[in-house]
Amino acid sequence: MTRPPARVRVPFMDLRSLHVELRDQLAEAALGVLDSERVLLGPELERFEQRWARVVGAPHGVGVASGLDALTLGLQALGVGPGDEVLVPSHTFVATWLAVVHAGATPVPVDVSVETGVWEPDAVAAAIGPRTRALVPVHLYGHPVDLDPLLGLAARHDLAVLDDAAQAHGATYRGRPVGGLTAATAWSFYPGKNLGALGDGGAVTTSDPQVAQRVRSLRNYGSTEKYVHAEIGWNSRLDELQAALLSVKLAHLDRHNARRHASALRYGEALADSGLVLPVVADWATAVWHLYVVRTPHRDALRAHLAAHGVETLVHYPVPPHRQPAFAGTAAADAHLPAADRLACEVLSLPMGPHLRDDQQDLVIDAVRSFRP
Ligand SMILES: *Cc1c(COP(=O)(O)O)cnc(C)c1O
Repeated sequence: MTRPPARVRVPFMDLRSLHVELRDQLAEAALGVLDSERVLLGPELERFEQRWARVVGAPHGVGVASGLDALTLGLQALGVGPGDEVLVPSHTFVATWLAVVHAGATPVPVDVSVETGVWEPDAVAAAIGPRTRALVPVHLYGHPVDLDPLLGLAARHDLAVLDDAAQAHGATYRGRPVGGLTAATAWSFYPGKNLGALGDGGAVTTSDPQVAQRVRSLRNYGSTEKYVHAEIGWNSRLDELQAALLSVKLAHLDRHNARRHASALRYGEALADSGLVLPVVADWATAVWHLYVVRTPHRDALRAHLAAHGVETLVHYPVPPHRQPAFAGTAAADAHLPAADRLACEVLSLPMGPHLRDDQQDLVIDAVRSFRP
């Protein structure tokens, strides 16, 4: 990782300080794999899969190579394929949409609410058509989606639900962890996520043994028996090294999430009268603050002001999927999605993560409070 330039006083994210803290444990885990000679589909993967499934309250966990693959293979395992339409949020990371295409189906965007940034059940209900096969709710920024109304809709219309939990490690919905609440849940262990590997990684958790078995086959060339290929699969495995490192980091997830939670509370108190729209947590939710996203029509000016004060910020996301060149020429590109367009202009992610010290956060807060649009 490149060091931030000296004028950055508060980095958006600081993986290095996170890894320094766990250096000895991570090194020991890596050496264990080096000495074992098992580098793929071995005991570390099984151990991590079982641990992760238990943490998120699902009977089965299957490690794959990335979050994108977890979404793609998860959809395929639920029977989504060519000719199907899958409803996706208009406001999300593009991978949610890409996975639908990789599964052979068509993503159909449903606009989110500007206020919450996530789906309203009524909008989803109105978008269900004869070809709709599945819903992909996204627990964006670490706040769980209100799943019960969506599960009700899915049951009435015989749709599969796969939730994208790439930003929601440890989040709970009505007291139950995200990860065992739908037909399948897709996870990413990209390094910057709340639980991140030292490279790419992902997983599918599910309570359905057949879905788990299908993902196991799909990730391994469509094979569960050596040299027998029952279907057209992929090569998408979570390797032993990443699995071993993830087991180390998993032991610190609650503590890291607690740090994020404390930082979110501090932001909330200190910025209550700042004129920004602040994120709110529903009373039925525990959010894990993957990102702390504020909203203002003066976003670009605020971002420049913060940069001038040495505060690094990011935008999640500046271009909505339907405006991406990759989707030019598809029906989605012509969709009317005003909330997604507006959020792309107004959202700003403040520094957030287990690395963020109070004195750094005070710098962010002072800089935000000194902003005059
Ligand atoms: C990170 C992310 C993904 C993709 O995960 P990768 O591991 O980077 O492939 C998918 N959806 C959302 C919402 C994400 O934040």
